[in-house]
Amino acid sequence: MGSPADLHSHSTFSDGRLTPADLIDLAHRNGVRIMALTDHDIVDGLPQAFDAAGRHGDFTLIPGIEMSTDVPGNEVHLLGHFIDWQDETFRERLARLQESRLGRARKMVEKLQELGKPVAWERVEAFAGEGAVGRPHIALALVEAGHVASVSQAFDLYLSRTGPAYVERDRLAPKEVVELLLSVGGLATLAHPRDLREAGSLEPLLAELADAGLTGMEVYYQDYPPEEIERLRTLAGRFALLPLGGSDFHGLGGPQQREPGNIPLTMEPVERLLSLARSKGVLGRARGPAAK
Ligand code: AMP
Ligand code: ZN
Ligand code: FE
Ligand code: FE
Repeated sequence: MGSPADLHSHSTFSDGRLTPADLIDLAHRNGVRIMALTDHDIVDGLPQAFDAAGRHGDFTLIPGIEMSTDVPGNEVHLLGHFIDWQDETFRERLARLQESRLGRARKMVEKLQELGKPVAWERVEAFAGEGAVGRPHIALALVEAGHVASVSQAFDLYLSRTGPAYVERDRLAPKEVVELLLSVGGLATLAHPRDLREAGSLEPLLAELADAGLTGMEVYYQDYPPEEIERLRTLAGRFALLPLGGSDFHGLGGPQQREPGNIPLTMEPVERLLSLARSKGVLGRARGPAAK
């Protein structure tokens, strides 16, 4: 099912395969008219994304980011929308996170060497391009070196949280990230919460984050089936969160990957997100007809 909105996507500035311009052109072809670029811990793709969005006239781009955080045993990702991405303090904070990503990726490459599955650091860097280096880039290097057949096999055998080459990276706590996003005027949304729900850690986290000022939760996400969507919608309602969503498009393939806009996100919660942004005075940080 196609939605005219998609609030979660990645470009070459993190671990997506498409440049911001190609990503937005693809989304536009798919019928998307309101989109957020939410690269991991980096905002450097936004100028190109705004240029590309501007070329369409009928396309609204929301400046966004996805930040990784930690709770014991699980990853928690938070999306920030309508952030003041030019804020100096915020950008310095992101620069420190990039440095820590680099150090951590080098350690994973060392572990792979010890495991007899060497990949050249230069190849990891090449796959990362101008972007924030992450596990998907190491996975691509593993595929290229012939150690695994696919990116998902690279995760299954080596790079998942429980994999032998995994290294933790410096992360902020979820509440700290919500506070950081709010400090730059953003609206914060909990991303892909199914794993957390299955682990039983979603409700206490929502209680904590709703208190810290969380706005939404991703309910319409990739291949989440109707019964999952229903469960998450109910939970969102209980914590007074907007039921939002996105494709989390990376362009890397994989069975659960959805094209931009290929999620059953309805416009009603998106309109409510836009209204909230308007009342906070940050709607103008997006560009395009919906930001007027
Ligand atoms: P990092 O931020 O370096 O820890 O990498 C996290 C990214 O790796 C996620 O955003 C996904 O894009 C990707 N990822 C995580 N698990 C898998 C998996 N099992 N298969 C493919 N990609 C994955
Ligand atoms: Zn990613
Ligand atoms: Fe994520
Ligand atoms: Fe993502």
